[in-house]
Amino acid sequence: MPTTIKAYGAEFSDAPLKELEIKRRELNPKDVKIKIEYCGVCHSDIHTVRNDWGGSKYPVVPCHEIIGTVEAIGDDVKDFKVGQTVGVGCMVDSCRTCPSCQDDLEQYCEQGSVGTYNGNDKHLGGHTFGGYSQQIVVDEHFVLNIPENLDIKATAPLLCAGITTWSPLSHWNVKRGDKVGVVGLGGLGHMGIKFANALGAHVVMITRSKDKAQDAKDLGAHEVLISTDDKQMQEHANSFDFLLNTIPVKHDMNPYLGLLKRDKTMVLVGAIEPLEPLHGASLILNRKRVAGSLIGGIKETQEMLDFCGKHNITCDVEMINIQNINEAYDRVTSSDVKYRFVIDMESLK
Ligand code: ZN
Ligand code: ZN
Repeated sequence: MPTTIKAYGAEFSDAPLKELEIKRRELNPKDVKIKIEYCGVCHSDIHTVRNDWGGSKYPVVPCHEIIGTVEAIGDDVKDFKVGQTVGVGCMVDSCRTCPSCQDDLEQYCEQGSVGTYNGNDKHLGGHTFGGYSQQIVVDEHFVLNIPENLDIKATAPLLCAGITTWSPLSHWNVKRGDKVGVVGLGGLGHMGIKFANALGAHVVMITRSKDKAQDAKDLGAHEVLISTDDKQMQEHANSFDFLLNTIPVKHDMNPYLGLLKRDKTMVLVGAIEPLEPLHGASLILNRKRVAGSLIGGIKETQEMLDFCGKHNITCDVEMINIQNINEAYDRVTSSDVKYRFVIDMESLK
């Protein structure tokens, strides 16, 4: 019998989030039942609630940055034990057999990975519900170990913002001595700076706003480049080994491409929407590349978490109660958070 539990969600696209009830499945042999402790608030949650990308299924119970404690395990679970602190990120299932799944890249599953919320629930039918709830049941393959030395409240956003920025830095082999630009300072950008710094790169924060300079340096940027200052942009032309572009909205990529060295790459992780036209010369003249990257696979997410444990890296967070979620969404929409809200799920009693 599925269990009925309390959750928080939205019943239609312009409704405020409120308390409601959802069902979680009984434990299958490979399942882990997790009592939810902390939930990070990602911009994708808001896009889904508001149906900005179309196709949202209601009620939407968001959150794919989940930290909790293992409450029970199925008979065949090998890697987790009751009482352990664990995480769940953006996916709770995939086909496990396609070439992408075989390569530990479940996020690019050819059948489509199952989102932690608003995915197709293979067990109960209907759609999946995310972390704004008392508990969640997840196949152990999609459960992550959280290093014990980290402040667990501040690890929640690693499960989406962390892996989204880690995966491209790792895939494009950013290394000690590289000059790396992080474009945009929000939830994603602040993690990009921390990771690139810990990898030994020379990190340049690229932003339109002078106001963000001191914060960027505090997070680990070695330099700040104001992208609206033509003279500064000229001084840095053709000098970067890698650009991580975290801007979440439509923008002009051409000025940033001018910053790359020959044969180097700018990776988009934020803007899932049409962009301003790209001038062919921005790519052709020095054989430059634009690429994209989506979250990361489960194996890579564990590698990221282990790296965070080793280097003591967490997110900068502001704690809230679930009852303040609607106000928090308004503040995320106006970029008024440093750098991620995390919900203390004790507040959902
Ligand atoms: Zn997210
Ligand atoms: Zn697959």
